[in-house]
Amino acid sequence: MKVLFVAGDPKPERWTAPIKALLPEAEVYVWNPEGPVIDADYAIVWQPPAELFERERKLKAIFNLGAGIDGLLAVPNLPAGLTIVRLEDAGMSVQMAEYVLHQLLEASREMEVYREQQRNGIWKIHRPIKRADWPVGVMGLGQIGKKVARTLADLDYRVYGWARSEHTLEHITTFAGRKSLREFLKQTRVLVNTLPLTDETRNIIDYDALADLQPGAVVINVGRGEHLVDDDLLKALDDGLVARASLDVFRNEPLPSDHPFWTRREITITPHISARTLRDATLEQITGKIRDHARGQPITGIVDTSRGY
Ligand code: NAP
Repeated sequence: MKVLFVAGDPKPERWTAPIKALLPEAEVYVWNPEGPVIDADYAIVWQPPAELFERERKLKAIFNLGAGIDGLLAVPNLPAGLTIVRLEDAGMSVQMAEYVLHQLLEASREMEVYREQQRNGIWKIHRPIKRADWPVGVMGLGQIGKKVARTLADLDYRVYGWARSEHTLEHITTFAGRKSLREFLKQTRVLVNTLPLTDETRNIIDYDALADLQPGAVVINVGRGEHLVDDDLLKALDDGLVARASLDVFRNEPLPSDHPFWTRREITITPHISARTLRDATLEQITGKIRDHARGQPITGIVDTSRGY
């Protein structure tokens, strides 16, 4: 079996060495557009060039080194019917739960207020929070959204979840489909976005959505930058509909230096780090699936390209 590694890492051996160790039955190659065609059976990819699909025509499946496959589906000559497999959790959901919890606590536990007090040498105790004042709405109840929602529910936050299909989750009130989006938003003060980027979800967090949130709203976006309409967030902050936002993902990354988000005190910016790809867990999962696929066994995480995720 031939496995081709296609990702712009200047040190590809960091990936290929563990792939060889985990999958000793495979011949492992690094993508080289100037070299000979490999006729690979499987490719492990991150943002592959269109040329890959012109040259490698025997691929049985490709494995994405991330959960989101919006970038991959945008490759113009992706062969119709090619099996695309996304990363499922692989250590990302727990990181995401931590990140979201941290951003939530910044708001709900008034951490900025206490930091400001410290700067001024002030010892002052504020009232304890009422959890009922901080209802959280999680958009997307997949590998990541579910973990985030459960983590916050375990801490007794009131948690609402919204997905495409019906879900039943203990201690979490769930909503399904576009028709219930408004109802979901109206319950929510802290909006957490863990959706995949698809034609249906692009620009979903616009001014109308933000206006539906409860007063003193907080937005935590860990999905994709294109879910959020940037100007609408700025307007919602100006209009007092949103109190603060924590943004990990952006329409253009790195976020351009002249983007107005940089100078807004109410916005926390992180450079797409809320859930990093962990090499060991990732390659263990992918090589396990390659082996199963090669043996004709079923694998999970196959992308439904008609849904876009
Ligand atoms: P997943 O398991 O496929 O879950 C996606 C969830 O979104 C599902 O619950 C799905 O509903 C829901 N959904 C999809 N389209 C929808 C729609 N039109 N309306 C309502 N709900 C919809 O994906 P995941 O592994 O949780 O990852 C989710 C996304 O997180 C990724 O696509 C990526 O964009 C983002 N991400 C970001 C980072 C980062 O570092 N910032 C890292 C990893 C992932 P159903 O349950 O009904 O199918």
